[in-house]
Amino acid sequence: MTKILIIYTGGTIGMVNDAKTGTLIPFDFEQIQHNVPELARLDYQLSVHSFNPILDSSNMDPVVWAKLASLIEEKYNDYDGFVVLHGSDTMSFTASALSFMLQNLAKPVVLTGSQLPIGEIRTDAKENLITALEIAATKKDGKAMVPEVCVYFDYQLFRGNRSIKNNSEKFEAFSSPNYPILAEAGVNLDFFPNYILPNPTEEFKIHTNFNSNIGVLKMYPGITENAVKAITEANVDAIVLEAFGSGNTTTAEWFLNCLEQAIQNGKIIVDISQCKGGAVQLGLYETSRRLQQMGVLSGYDMTFETTVTKLMYLMGQNLAKAEVRKQMEQSIRGELTA
Ligand code: ASP
Repeated sequence: MTKILIIYTGGTIGMVNDAKTGTLIPFDFEQIQHNVPELARLDYQLSVHSFNPILDSSNMDPVVWAKLASLIEEKYNDYDGFVVLHGSDTMSFTASALSFMLQNLAKPVVLTGSQLPIGEIRTDAKENLITALEIAATKKDGKAMVPEVCVYFDYQLFRGNRSIKNNSEKFEAFSSPNYPILAEAGVNLDFFPNYILPNPTEEFKIHTNFNSNIGVLKMYPGITENAVKAITEANVDAIVLEAFGSGNTTTAEWFLNCLEQAIQNGKIIVDISQCKGGAVQLGLYETSRRLQQMGVLSGYDMTFETTVTKLMYLMGQNLAKAEVRKQMEQSIRGELTA
């Protein structure tokens, strides 16, 4: 019988309304099973591991990501697939981080959650959970159909490190603007194998070290030298530059000098676009040519979530800076198209 491990980390899916304060607070996972009697009718052997404490995903951090990866490693040979129940707010960050932590993954790791708690009549939680379990259990020629870290939400399966949360109210809360969906649930569960990562040939291993000493510089017209220097002169090892369009910034001399100085001081700067769809093309316009010349890296079409977690991951691996820079511009888990 197919064996799936459900890892409950928290999030709205398992929250109840606190009568005293009127806010949503997490509750015991046992109540989730109580609320989804359908689970007992599935033809899989399900086990549950509940995190302690259970978290609103706004409180996720690299320490919890490492716990999650270590748990998957510990249980890897005992299960056919893993479903991680997670708050939607930072689900794409966790999915991206896991994709880097879990190397040569041959089993599905499907993250899901919900917009409404599982006990509400109109909840989206049941469909998300039950279909995520089906995806985690699906095999083709004896091997996992989706051997990668993915996010399932509102009838669509996304590559985890390509997903973004783009709506805080709609059931359709996630999208993947720069990569096609991996599967769609309708009357049938349709997988799109051309877009799914191949089964790995090498042995599964995990990496749990992160260096999260990163700054973020988001461009806007009128940005001041003070605001820029607060980031470029800060004690950080890398900066994510959220630029305009295809990677453009102001060409004001003071601004370019700030970036150049930061690079000379050893900081890695990665240029990604504020646009959700499309890629950075350094050098396409005059306004990004200087960035390229001074050694700003292209994040191509990576999401913000992936850029941040990939930097944290690579900088935590004891690699030479040149190697970190090189891998930032390459696809290592299907996270970018160069
Ligand atoms: N604040 C919640 C969380 O991310 C929202 C959700 O679960 O969708 O944990």
